[in-house]
Amino acid sequence: MGTPIRFKCLKCGYCCAHLINETSLGKLGIFLLPQERGWFPQETIIPLYGAGLKGKRRLRPQVIYAFQSTLKRCPWFDERSHLCLIYEHRPSVCRAYPLSGTCATRECRFLAMQSQDDEEISLEISTIKEELKADRETLNYIIAMRSKYKGPMWVYPNDEKKWKMVTGSDLNQYLPKIPGLLSQILK
Ligand code: SF4
Ligand code: SF4
Repeated sequence: MGTPIRFKCLKCGYCCAHLINETSLGKLGIFLLPQERGWFPQETIIPLYGAGLKGKRRLRPQVIYAFQSTLKRCPWFDERSHLCLIYEHRPSVCRAYPLSGTCATRECRFLAMQSQDDEEISLEISTIKEELKADRETLNYIIAMRSKYKGPMWVYPNDEKKWKMVTGSDLNQYLPKIPGLLSQILK
C-alpha cells in the first residue's frame, strides 16, 4: 500500500446527488438510523437492514434497525452553493463519508482521482478524524443490534422491495474496496 493520502473534500456534491448505489446486495439508498428517517420525505423512506427472525411461512426480520431513502438526489443538497442545507444536523452516514465501513460504497470523486484502478487507498488518519468517529459510532450501533437480535442479517434492496436474507459470502463481497481503511476502522 502507498503513502497515506490526506483527504480533502472537493465539494463537488457528487455524493449528495448519487444516494442510490449498486452493490453486491442490490441497489441500496442512503443509510439512515431510525431517528434520522424523519429528515427525509416520508413517502421515500423504506427499510434497509433488519436482524433476527420472525414468522413461520413468511420469514422476515424481527427488527428493522436501519432505513433508506429511495431518492437519488438529496433534498438537502443546494445545487447553487453545492453545500448541505442541514450540515450541522446531517445523518451519521454523511458525517462518516467517504468511509464506507457501515454503508453502501459511494464513489467519492476525490478518492476516484487518487486511484485509477482498484488499488488500495489508505487515508491519513488526522484528516478523517470526524469521519472515523461517525463511522465507528454507526458500526457500533450495527454490531449492538446484530448481537441483540441473533440470527440472520437482512437487507431490503431498493429495486426489489422485499427482504433478502444475507449470507456470509454475500457480506464478504459487500465489504468496501478500501481494505486498508476498513482494517483501521475495525481495529
Ligand atoms: S444530508 Fe447533506 S451531506 Fe447528507 S446527502 Fe444530503 S446534502 Fe449531502
Ligand atoms: S464526492 Fe467526495 S469530494 Fe465530492 S463532495 Fe462528496 S466527499 Fe467531497
